[in-house]
Amino acid sequence: MSTDGICVTLPNGESVAKLGQGTWEMGERRAAREAEIAALREGIALGMNVIDTAEMYGEGTTETLIGEALAGLRDEVFLVSKVYPHNASRRGVAASCEASLRRLKTDRLDLYLLHWPGSIALEETVEGFEALRRAGKIRHWGVSNFDVDDMEALVAAGGSACATNQILYNVARRGPEFDLLPWMRARDMPAMAYSPIDHMRLPKRSVLDEIAQSRQVSMTTIALAWVLEQPGVCAIPKAGNIEHVRENRRALDIRLTNSERAMIDAQFAPPGAKRPLDML
Ligand code: NAP
Repeated sequence: MSTDGICVTLPNGESVAKLGQGTWEMGERRAAREAEIAALREGIALGMNVIDTAEMYGEGTTETLIGEALAGLRDEVFLVSKVYPHNASRRGVAASCEASLRRLKTDRLDLYLLHWPGSIALEETVEGFEALRRAGKIRHWGVSNFDVDDMEALVAAGGSACATNQILYNVARRGPEFDLLPWMRARDMPAMAYSPIDHMRLPKRSVLDEIAQSRQVSMTTIALAWVLEQPGVCAIPKAGNIEHVRENRRALDIRLTNSERAMIDAQFAPPGAKRPLDML
């Protein structure tokens, strides 16, 4: 799998920006709408053009906000949404996708994900996704919160065209490095890291802070730079204002030194054994 520092490559060879934008909790507070729209548009202008959302976020209000934010910009972004597991039947994915397209004011999604493993047979979900792809409603499909055994089940269910797996991964949640990321890399499948700054729960005093101070950037910039250095991994931090977006964009320009990486490994150790996949 090739990664040139600013992009990851999907299994079909298409390049996708390594640094995108999340949207969970956006569009839920009227007073924050304007700043959130401005933040998303600033991120797109800075090249963070992967926009991640889900039908679950605000039960559609987040997708509606994104539809507004993307006015005149739709063709510049790689738009990702997700279907609830309980809607992931063959007919359910079609109905959910139509509703998402309507709210997002677009005619297609670039990537459509199953939000987490559910009880509907994966064969059905895969058939539903493939039908949407044939109809031009989605360009790629994938999954989220799938551990290795879930990925094996997906392949067995005919899902080898899966483009990505969106997972909780950051410097404090390194479990996927043990088996899931190697499994995906062996199949040229990039991972999409959600909560790449751990939903702001990283320890306030840490080696990240030390490195940040010496480089005169923020701790979040360093945490994000670490995720972006991982091969075959892209990240979708959520930022609700322009200043945070700009700070996050700075992470792409940072190259950690070997000694900084060693300092990070000493505090946030890589996994020595299988850990179940964390989920937010
Ligand atoms: P995150 O991106 O790790 O952290 C978001 C938090 O960090 C927000 O409170 C944000 O505050 C703050 N923040 C961002 N940039 C900052 C900066 N430069 N300085 C200080 N604070 C900053 O967590 P996340 O939202 O959980 O994950 C990112 C995206 O991944 C989500 O938005 C969603 O699209 C996706 N996601 C997917 C799943 C899944 O199950 N597939 C689960 C969770 C998340 P402000 O808003 O004030 O900037």
